[in-house]
Amino acid sequence: MGDPYLRDRFLNTLNGKAVDKVPALSVTQTGTVELMEKSGSYWPEAHFEAKEMAALALVGHTFAGLEAVRYPYCLTILSEALGCGINRGTKEIQPSLKYHPFAEEPEKLEIPKDLTEKARIPTVLEATAILREKAGEEVPLIAGMEGPASLASRLLGTYNFLTWVLRKPEIIRDCLKATRTACTEYAEVLFEAGADAVCLADGIAGPDMLDPKLFEALVSPEYDVFCKASKGAKIVHICGNAVPILKTISGCGFNGISIEEKVTDLPAAKKLVGGKASLIGNISTSGVMLGGTYEEVKAEARKCLEGGIDVLAPGCGIAPGTPTKNIKALVDARNELYP
Ligand SMILES: [Zn+2]
Repeated sequence: MGDPYLRDRFLNTLNGKAVDKVPALSVTQTGTVELMEKSGSYWPEAHFEAKEMAALALVGHTFAGLEAVRYPYCLTILSEALGCGINRGTKEIQPSLKYHPFAEEPEKLEIPKDLTEKARIPTVLEATAILREKAGEEVPLIAGMEGPASLASRLLGTYNFLTWVLRKPEIIRDCLKATRTACTEYAEVLFEAGADAVCLADGIAGPDMLDPKLFEALVSPEYDVFCKASKGAKIVHICGNAVPILKTISGCGFNGISIEEKVTDLPAAKKLVGGKASLIGNISTSGVMLGGTYEEVKAEARKCLEGGIDVLAPGCGIAPGTPTKNIKALVDARNELYP
């Protein structure tokens, strides 16, 4: 607490500059039941009300010790703004989609001119302004959103997306252009509102779901355009084993690449990235952070640090049942290595 360099350290790391120690934070969702109880802001309200959203995000930093404030807690903000109906979820279940509005007529997908005024986008912008004031200038704010491929899969339906990448790639190409435009516009207003970094979670773009050749042909060109158009710090999160596409992604212009624990050889991964982006991760969230002991989390964190991770972080979204002490273990493990 009270470290005046959190924001500089994180942004310098993302910009490839030398830092005194590895930042320990989360670029993926941080809402847990214990933190809801601590803040008095619970899901589902914290997904829908700016004050609640901000209050829950803040305790991830002030109470769990993470060296950034990360919000919101779902991957449905852009999806809802583009027409997916939303189920609100519960205290432990994130909001989900009711339907895929462009499953039948994908050619009708267009980004409305007033996108950033739609659905909960103004709510997240208001939460950003609240957090900027409450967290102060020294703490980095990280806003998450659907990446272009994940957003397309939500608008079209996952089955359609994965079938059409093979059979109707021209439809997917057009959709990805549209979803990338939505990501760019949303990122711009988030930066204007005070966010320091955006994290595009694009799970479906990972090699576990999408052939790396198709990733290279269809998704990575949109990443290039997104990164060129967006001025602030940009992070992409890829689920599963991202190794086969790490080299391609590292050429797109992201400042950081967030990876899961399925990337097991960190020195080899760093070689693939070749210093073009920071590697962020990659402690297992569904495994050791949720079900392990404090000491086990620290041991995993030490492995990441010794492997050369640039930002120590959970490998994916933190599970709602995760004990706070297992989140605190990240900063504690880092402090033991950098006394
Ligand atoms: Zn993931």
